[in-house]
Amino acid sequence: MSGKVETHEFQAESRQLLQLVVHSIYSNKDVFLRELISNASDALDKLRLESLRDGDLDADTSDPHIALETDPEARTLTVRDNGIGMSREEVKGLIGTIAKSGTAEFVRRLKEANANKDAAASADLIGSFGVGFYSSFMVADKVTLVTRRAGERKGTRWESTGEGTYELEALDEAPQGTSVTLHLKPTDTEDHLYDYTDVNRLRQIVRRHSDFIPWPVRTTVESP
Ligand code: ADP
Ligand code: MG
Repeated sequence: MSGKVETHEFQAESRQLLQLVVHSIYSNKDVFLRELISNASDALDKLRLESLRDGDLDADTSDPHIALETDPEARTLTVRDNGIGMSREEVKGLIGTIAKSGTAEFVRRLKEANANKDAAASADLIGSFGVGFYSSFMVADKVTLVTRRAGERKGTRWESTGEGTYELEALDEAPQGTSVTLHLKPTDTEDHLYDYTDVNRLRQIVRRHSDFIPWPVRTTVESP
């Protein structure tokens, strides 16, 4: 069961940043996974803190972990955590808006680097600013986020193709925490380097970029 689907517009700065990320000449797309795992890890940290602070918090803290689930047939990759999750208002505020200071300046410099086809400058900028959740759109043409905040009953589905609007829907049921499903862009090559449904490839990226994560990262493939 679920509620009605609402369509919202991204805030102007977010829209610009998304455009730049989607059309980025930035070549090291692997960093999207580091960003999503880092968010998942933060969410597990927050759950631990909040459950220590609030003994009455109705949350499952028995097996905190991050799961990477792939479906090669559907060409999806899901990054799931059973951390703190987000309320509907948090989803709107945190995912639809970029409140970071310096975003405007960052957008200006990234535009310039892209216009000059300066991949190194673009990489430096993205690396140092941290595009965060939006880096999903470097590899996905649609992103579906399902989340339920620890202690809350209802969940929220957020979905976007990164083109100006996003959908929000209330869910009667959702697992605690957050799952981010990337509907992967088609690749014009058979090269496994670009196949983010390849479990070995994912493990390699995790070792390279997320080795310091203090929570277990489990990888599973959807079996037919
Ligand atoms: P940053 O991590 O630098 O704040 P992001 O774009 O990566 O920027 O994420 C924006 C915000 O969205 C996070 O600060 C967090 O509040 C929220 N968020 C993103 N992913 C998750 C998640 N898996 N669980 C809970 N909250 C999340
Ligand atoms: Mg982040």
